[in-house]
Amino acid sequence: MSCNILNSFINLYCQNCFCQKNTLRMKAIFNSSFTKVNKENRKTQQKLSIIRAIAQSGSGITVPEICKMLKISAPTGFKLVNELQTEGFLGIVGKKETHNGRKPAIYDLKNVRFYAISVEILLKRISVGIIDSQLDTVYCKNNTEFVLENTADCLKEVEKYITACVRDSGISKDHILGMGMGITGRVMQDTGESLTYFNFMDLPLGKYFSKLFDIPVFINNDTRCFGQAEKIIGKAKHVNHAIVINLSRGLGTSLIIDNRIVNGGNGFAGEMGHMQFGNRENMCICGKKGCLGNDVGGYALEEKFMDCISRGEKSIIQHPGHGRQIRYDGILQAALEGDELSIRLVQEMGFKLGNALGNIINLLNPELVIIAGKFASAKDILLDPLKSGITSSALINPLRHCHIAFSELGHMGGLKGAGALVFEYFELIKQ
Ligand SMILES: [Zn+2]
Repeated sequence: MSCNILNSFINLYCQNCFCQKNTLRMKAIFNSSFTKVNKENRKTQQKLSIIRAIAQSGSGITVPEICKMLKISAPTGFKLVNELQTEGFLGIVGKKETHNGRKPAIYDLKNVRFYAISVEILLKRISVGIIDSQLDTVYCKNNTEFVLENTADCLKEVEKYITACVRDSGISKDHILGMGMGITGRVMQDTGESLTYFNFMDLPLGKYFSKLFDIPVFINNDTRCFGQAEKIIGKAKHVNHAIVINLSRGLGTSLIIDNRIVNGGNGFAGEMGHMQFGNRENMCICGKKGCLGNDVGGYALEEKFMDCISRGEKSIIQHPGHGRQIRYDGILQAALEGDELSIRLVQEMGFKLGNALGNIINLLNPELVIIAGKFASAKDILLDPLKSGITSSALINPLRHCHIAFSELGHMGGLKGAGALVFEYFELIKQ
């Protein structure tokens, strides 16, 4: 039964087919134009709207609430809900307390669960999972070591990981609505193009995977996927304007304005790591000098640490040996264990990041700044210098209304945010 509703969803939303079975229609995924309502499918659409509203609520809904939302009469609302109940999609899960003493029944989904394949591709790790529309992980192989390269062999490897995950999850492909993919580098979400990796094909990466797996595929940059997860289930859930800083090896930024992730005109918004807030002596891989990402992030931490050691400074970190590099997460860990040099370097970075963030706060007036990524583990060390840095550059009024928080989503955030792209498209989660 859930297969029927799933097919209805896909048929309702998709308009122009690219996939083998010729049943899914992919064009709509990239231009977001919905099927026009006509008399024949009005009732199906109303039923799907009820299912969407219940999925979005996460905790069931009453018939009066459905009628208000869909702008339909009470008799029509009861008729549709009764039909959905008879068809086995809805069940009563309780009664709602109201002021007037009436206790309308609360309906929730029954035998209907929506799944998405989630993929997160980072420079050195790949994670693949199956998540449901509550963004709960049903099955996952995460943080598998992997080296991202712009080659056909690497793309084949990604395909293998995805195929293995779907197979091992035991979830039938018939129950999977689509695939969401977060990948590092420049990504144009509207067209499904990854400009930095896997850019050697005639087809955009999203369309390539869509044809290959025969499902709708949505792609965005890994940090924007993380921001998506913060907006839906994380610290940004109850605010409309937030900046999410994804600070691990690199520095990524996701902007949430008016409760929406900002992609920008072509999908390149949020490149704070290449803003000229850094040391003008340092040359960035982008070819410019002074990019903030050269001074703040895992790469910079490793470089600065080694520089200090070479100048005779002491640390509790044992050097891993000739030709091997000390990793930034080891330095973060040492800072948490009280290593003076590591603490000082992390704090210097916190101030620099804060100083740059103060400028962004002046520009965008966010309610919340969320620090995520591996550096979020160093919260107690980072917070004070970060605040000092922000205070040094932010104006008093926007600063007064801006809170600082540290992400609690951990390493699953990006993966969940990638899957959320699917549910957001099908309107199964709140925008
Ligand atoms: Zn740069």
